[in-house]
Amino acid sequence: MTRLHLASRNAKKLEEMQRILAEHLPGIEVVGLDDVPAYDEPVEDEPTFEGNALLKARAGHTATGLPTVADDSGLCVDALNGMPGVLSARWSGPPKDDARNNELLLAQLADVPDERRTAHFRCAVALVHDSGELVVEGRMDGRVIREVRGSGGFGYDVLFVADDHPGLTTAELSREDKDAISHRGRALRELAPQAASLLGGRSSG
Ligand code: IMP
Repeated sequence: MTRLHLASRNAKKLEEMQRILAEHLPGIEVVGLDDVPAYDEPVEDEPTFEGNALLKARAGHTATGLPTVADDSGLCVDALNGMPGVLSARWSGPPKDDARNNELLLAQLADVPDERRTAHFRCAVALVHDSGELVVEGRMDGRVIREVRGSGGFGYDVLFVADDHPGLTTAELSREDKDAISHRGRALRELAPQAASLLGGRSSG
């Protein structure tokens, strides 16, 4: 069976990616960073999601020799000119802390009226393999609410209500409902058939 390496240390993100890829790439064994020998992971210093995803996937492929998938994602808030964007994970400074990031975002948007609290998540997923590389992107539109709600998901999910599921934050959705509309779900479902034909697995569409 072909092995596909998923280069992510974010346990929640990894769980989402493994779940979506396993469903759509049934002929391929998905392994995580803990299943491969340790290597120096790159600093994510590119200005774009695509650049950072490629950086991580290239490093994983070079170190392991396995076809490697990596994602880079974040929340782009219109009232903050698209920030935190690629800085989403470390928006409130080191060490990475979701609760502190959410508090900072709420404070920055405190005076922003409801109609101007629009935002979207973006995700770039890169696949680097022996004979080339490809990048796909996904997006989920919605808005940032005024208090945290829900216990699922991760990151800014507790503050984000998607246009496709008004009334619930993405932290209140079931895993399946979030995967169906999320930036990551959309990008990975686009990647799956291309990965299957490149790597010789089957794609369930
Ligand atoms: P990175 O891709 O590891 O640089 O980090 C992405 C960061 O964006 C996460 O740490 C979260 O803060 C945020 N983020 C990305 N995707 C999601 C999501 O699906 N829900 C909530 N927050 C997310």
